Amino acid sequence: MTNRNNITLESYREIAPKGTIDLAYCLAERLKGKSILHVNSTRAGGGVAEMLHRLVPVLNGLGIRTRWEVIEGTPLFYQTTKGFHNALQGQTQTITKEMYDEYIKINQKNAEKISFDSDLAVIHDPQPAGIVITYEKPKTAKWLWRCHIDISRPHRKVWNFLKGYISKYDGAIFSLPNFSQKLDIPQFLMYPSIDPLSDKNKELSNEDIDGIVSSYNIPRDKPIILQVSRFDRFKDPLGVIEAYKLVKKYNDCYLVLAGGEATDDPEGLQVLQEVKDAASNDKNIFVLVLPAEANLEINALQRAATVILQKSTKEGFGLTVAEAMWKGRPVIGGAVGGITVQIIYGQTGFTVNSIEGCANRIRYLLNNSEVLADLGQKAKEYTRRNFLITRHLCDYLALMTHLLNIK
Ligand code: UDP
Repeated sequence: MTNRNNITLESYREIAPKGTIDLAYCLAERLKGKSILHVNSTRAGGGVAEMLHRLVPVLNGLGIRTRWEVIEGTPLFYQTTKGFHNALQGQTQTITKEMYDEYIKINQKNAEKISFDSDLAVIHDPQPAGIVITYEKPKTAKWLWRCHIDISRPHRKVWNFLKGYISKYDGAIFSLPNFSQKLDIPQFLMYPSIDPLSDKNKELSNEDIDGIVSSYNIPRDKPIILQVSRFDRFKDPLGVIEAYKLVKKYNDCYLVLAGGEATDDPEGLQVLQEVKDAASNDKNIFVLVLPAEANLEINALQRAATVILQKSTKEGFGLTVAEAMWKGRPVIGGAVGGITVQIIYGQTGFTVNSIEGCANRIRYLLNNSEVLADLGQKAKEYTRRNFLITRHLCDYLALMTHLLNIK
């Protein structure tokens, strides 16, 4: 039996596309003894934490010393960084001087606590981006800022503030070409990934799926429409409910909205309340608030669902989209950010621009089971080739080889 700790690169040989594992070994061989430090702002909740939980042990298993540090903040700091997040994704936000000062102060404090001793440091997202300024790094060490959010049209004031920090890095990584910015540092493209062997994505028996789904009192006598997402406005849970209500006029089905809170997101509770209010008069809508460790539960819900939505209005890259596709489910997603490269319209799912469009595509799939199965199958294979951890690992190793000038 495999668990989180004894999974090695070899465990993926039968799952990853042919050649990927050997390529990773070759790349890693020349990097043995080198070290990587990842820094982000939460150990649970959201896509970054999800990816680091497995990338870190697999890199260590390859002889590359890899650490993961999480910064600590105050409520005002998280309020500020949530404001940054919203502003970078294009929303108008008011960030006061007190908030900017808090951002600087908390980043300095964390910089004093964290040991940055590593050949490569990857600092994820805006929250810890500011630690770069306070640390005098050795000349040989490289620092990258990895941006996971949709930064195609950032609010200028906030971006200009952050840019002061970002330009101190040796490079920036974005999840999509059109998120790149005018910067004097090299910019790299790297798609995120999912782990097919994690509890979130591994195969489950029908008994396990039934058991988990029934533990939430969700019946399985009608198709289940599912969206798994933090309760965040950019994920548009209220739009999902509207789309479901349109579908419901013609097709009987259940809607499950499953989410939890990221510890660095102070807005979640408010959005959750709005979702509960919107769902309150329909007993066929299930709003589930899941703890961070509910990986098997999310896996089972995705496998029990007939159609999976990710109706985001902004999305750096939807890990939930890849997770659903890996389970052979076509996804209907907002035509934004990373979702536009994950979903190939009419082949692995559908991208949509409105509530009506979303409802229309849900109905199309519910009414055409052969199309649904065909798209689902293609979605799985597309994910295998493009969005698994093994490809992501090779990207990191190749980039590290390049940056550290390994011959
Ligand atoms: N997730 C989770 N519990 C939840 C909601 C989300 O474990 O209640 C996971 C989800 O399965 C996915 C990740 O968190 O792995 C979300 O990543 P995504 O890129 O879709 O969105 P983000 O939250 O990073 O904006």
